[in-house]
Amino acid sequence: MTTATATFESLNPSTGEVIETFPRSGAAEVDRAVEKSRAAWEGWRLVPAPERGNILFRFAQILERSKPELSDLMTREMGKVKAEAGGDVQEAIDMSYYMGGEGRRLFGQTTPSELRDKFQMSIRMPVGVVGAITPWNFPIAIPAWKLTPALVCGNTVVLKPAEDTPLLAQRFVDLLHEAGLPQDVVQVVHGYGEEAGDALVRHPDVPIITFTGSRETGVAVTKAAADRLKHVHLELGGKNAIIVMDDADLDLAVDGITWSAFGTAGQRCTAASRVIVHRDVYDALQQRLVARAEQMKIGAPWEDDTEIGPVINEAAVEKIHSYTEIGVDEGAKLLTGGERVEGHGFYYRPTVFAEVEPGMRIAQEEIFGPTTALIPVGSFEEAVLAANSVEFGLSSSIFTRDVNKAFKAMRDLQTGIMYVNAGTTGAEVHLPFGGMKQTGNGHREAGQAALEVFTEWKSVYVDYSGKLQRAQIDNQ
Ligand code: ADP
Repeated sequence: MTTATATFESLNPSTGEVIETFPRSGAAEVDRAVEKSRAAWEGWRLVPAPERGNILFRFAQILERSKPELSDLMTREMGKVKAEAGGDVQEAIDMSYYMGGEGRRLFGQTTPSELRDKFQMSIRMPVGVVGAITPWNFPIAIPAWKLTPALVCGNTVVLKPAEDTPLLAQRFVDLLHEAGLPQDVVQVVHGYGEEAGDALVRHPDVPIITFTGSRETGVAVTKAAADRLKHVHLELGGKNAIIVMDDADLDLAVDGITWSAFGTAGQRCTAASRVIVHRDVYDALQQRLVARAEQMKIGAPWEDDTEIGPVINEAAVEKIHSYTEIGVDEGAKLLTGGERVEGHGFYYRPTVFAEVEPGMRIAQEEIFGPTTALIPVGSFEEAVLAANSVEFGLSSSIFTRDVNKAFKAMRDLQTGIMYVNAGTTGAEVHLPFGGMKQTGNGHREAGQAALEVFTEWKSVYVDYSGKLQRAQIDNQ
């Protein structure tokens, strides 16, 4: 079933046409990749970190040069519209420069000893072969979030990309090699999650897994990794809310909601799938939002003026539509959208529900499509309560001109990322990215936080007194 001769196809979600065929790898291919990666680690960990960083600088330059090609491919393999595809590649460029610079930092600490003539320090050590499992929605950016810090820290990587975007992952790794990455330091295994992905998670020579995907799969990965006490870094779902207070700039709020709810056809883990609105501005906001949603140009993502492209595949259209039916059954009011766009490809109209109660399923569960739910509230306190009433804790935002409310929201919203007077999406590479509650397991990627995922601390004590000095005893 999972022999090397088995294959799967990558499709263009706009047309349903086959882009390319890839090997459907299983445990045997994962074994081979890990073995090579493990052997390569012995050399790579000894390459000076600034030199590892230099490869990432060159990679960033190659990505800059390849931005038009990769963006165009992304519109075709993943369906992201042109400007957003460019943003996805830019994020990888930014991350590569940032992590390239870490090659000359990777700071540890030196600290005085309690004893005389003794020196001590902490140093970051690579962990080994990293198993990186990535989703399709940021097909260049997410591999960069994982691979660039892993590599600069001295790890090698086996990457299992999402089965919907294998070609972009392959291009990403090819360009890393063009930048001078030694052979075998990064390996790709294409294939399905339950086959290649699971084999990677369970492999005894892979001590660390970094995973971005659904909560359900994150739990399965954690369980599969538990027997070997692997380090597991998880980046899971979101049910992100934008709060619009009665003193908000409504036009700005509508801009933020439109970008966050419908950008990438709602397929971002930071998408705004809930809008919690003060009753005093509820009617005005919903009218403007519906008007904007209905004006959005749906079309082929490679065309310049397209605002909404397809969702990733047929199963996604079906899942999104099932939530439309759930919302209607729950008694929410469908204001616009709620249907697929007939014709080729996997398109769904931007969808807005009104009169949504915080406990309804459409206000609790991740839909991963261009659907957002308007929840009316009477006060700031009620808004915060509704925002925090979900299991996820990735991103949140508030539109208000009241500085006191803005600071209270910063303090009280239970999310790892929070915005004031902007939508729920727009992270930059030098700050930690990740979520609270069921969005993850406490780790963060990007910024300095990524180094915590991809290194282990070693504390080193050097005694130059020439005699036995016992800590906690001889200093008394
Ligand atoms: P999504 O719903 O975003 O597709 P998934 O969690 O299903 O999220 O997939 C994210 C990544 O995890 C993909 O690369 C997929 O192949 C992989 N994956 C799915 N199931 C497993 C599993 N049981 N073990 C390891 N990886 C998996």
